[in-house]
Amino acid sequence: MSILNQKTVKNIIKFSGIGLHSGEEVNLSIKPAVPNTGIIFKRVDLSQKNLIYPSFENVSNTSLNTTISNEHGVQVSTIEHLMGALFCSGVDNALIEIDNVEVPILDGSAKNFIEKIFLTGLEVSSTPIKIIKINKKVEFSDRDRSISIEPSKLSLDIDYELKYDNQLIGNQKNKINVYEDDLNDIFNSRTFCLYEDIERIKKNGLAKGGSLDNAIVVKGAKVLNDQGLRNDKEFVNHKILDCIGDLYTSGHRLIAKIKCFQGGHYLSNKLLRKVFDNNDNFSIIEIKEKTLPHTYIKKNQLKSIA
Ligand SMILES: [Zn+2]
Repeated sequence: MSILNQKTVKNIIKFSGIGLHSGEEVNLSIKPAVPNTGIIFKRVDLSQKNLIYPSFENVSNTSLNTTISNEHGVQVSTIEHLMGALFCSGVDNALIEIDNVEVPILDGSAKNFIEKIFLTGLEVSSTPIKIIKINKKVEFSDRDRSISIEPSKLSLDIDYELKYDNQLIGNQKNKINVYEDDLNDIFNSRTFCLYEDIERIKKNGLAKGGSLDNAIVVKGAKVLNDQGLRNDKEFVNHKILDCIGDLYTSGHRLIAKIKCFQGGHYLSNKLLRKVFDNNDNFSIIEIKEKTLPHTYIKKNQLKSIA
């Protein structure tokens, strides 16, 4: 059975917690789904009009999170860390049942999602996966912030630079190969904010559930969380996790090179809208195992056994 066939979770995986922005308790289940389903969210607290596809076209809000809405205005917010975990763990098809408006923030990273998905394992189907291959360079910029996507032979490379007006965060850069690198630092990196921004964020009705249990808070040159940082580049690594999650709203994994300076949910979404606005920019292909690097295949075989 090819590891390049579509996968779903072997069993139902459950999470409970609070929403970072809503502050409300929420239960979420990742349920197996048949090939070509893709990822679908279902608001089980509602009896109808409750299905929402996490497509870039359904992204309705990009302010400090990625929110999706269906045509009836039913929403799910803060989907990005879960989507990043589904992308990187190889889940192509899943039904995400959720009983409130926001995905639980857990520890502010993708760590718990990834751990439980790998612990449960994946079911491999006989249907090949589809991948989006970028054919032309597309850019989007907004004042001094920019993001671009361009063709790559086989990999998905993300080159990200973060610049913060804070002495501790400052300039952080990282470049990763999503299909070949060890991504643990990416999965483990938490969302973050500056101490002085908390009041303004809360005034805007956001981060009601925010605490040192689910976000890094930086005050001057200090991290207020007891345990400090989880890795040297935790800030930019979290932005890369967000970026991967947002890229999965394209519906498939991608072969491309991404370069981003001061990006975020808004820029990622604008970029995807621009890419898919023109059919010349991309192809959707079924990729053959022999054309992939051995490291990628080996790593993913291990993952599917685990
Ligand atoms: Zn995030």
